[in-house]
Amino acid sequence: MDDRQFRQAMGKFATGVTVITTEVDGEAHGMTANAFMSVSLVPKLIVISVGERAQMLEKIKQSKKFAVNILSGEQQEYSMLFAGQIKEKREVNFDRLADLPVLTGAIAQVACEVVNEHVEGDHTLFIGKVIDLQVEEEEPLLFFNGKYRSLTPEESFSK
Ligand code: FAD
Repeated sequence: MDDRQFRQAMGKFATGVTVITTEVDGEAHGMTANAFMSVSLVPKLIVISVGERAQMLEKIKQSKKFAVNILSGEQQEYSMLFAGQIKEKREVNFDRLADLPVLTGAIAQVACEVVNEHVEGDHTLFIGKVIDLQVEEEEPLLFFNGKYRSLTPEESFSK
């Protein structure tokens, strides 16, 4: 089994897209991530997985908190920007939630304190205890097979 095959298989799992945000010394940093999962209801815990080469790793280790911004169908550009796929610098105006920078227009903003971290292979899993959240009724941005998708009536299987 090679890396390409593994990536291809994992890409068959359709997900939403998030931007993880945090702040160190008053400077906001964002990173696109789809390795995000709800872990526990009591207490309210979630997990994210951050690669060893991502700048975000050291930022979260320092700040000990982060927010998960679940992107709307209108926010593909944010996903590309915070994945480093748009090369030119862009000015982003962040909102605030629980003293963290969050993205305006995200369909959910979930602010967390890090309560645990586990290094597994080339990624670190951060367990976040949810301290505040905000939800909007908008359609999500989706990611499947390495491509962005949207949840339109034509593409859904509900009929
Ligand atoms: P950088 O590469 O330094 O920053 C990323 C980009 O965000 C840069 O272009 C930077 O200019 C911009 N940026 C950061 N902060 C700001 C700011 N305040 N204002 C304006 N621009 C800013 N990687 C993982 O580790 N885990 C995952 O779960 C994961 N899922 C992914 C899902 C998708 C759909 C995609 C496309 C990528 C995913 N990645 C994931 C890869 C990850 O997004 C990239 O490797 C990313 O570039 C790593 O970010 P970084 O922290 O190293 O920061």
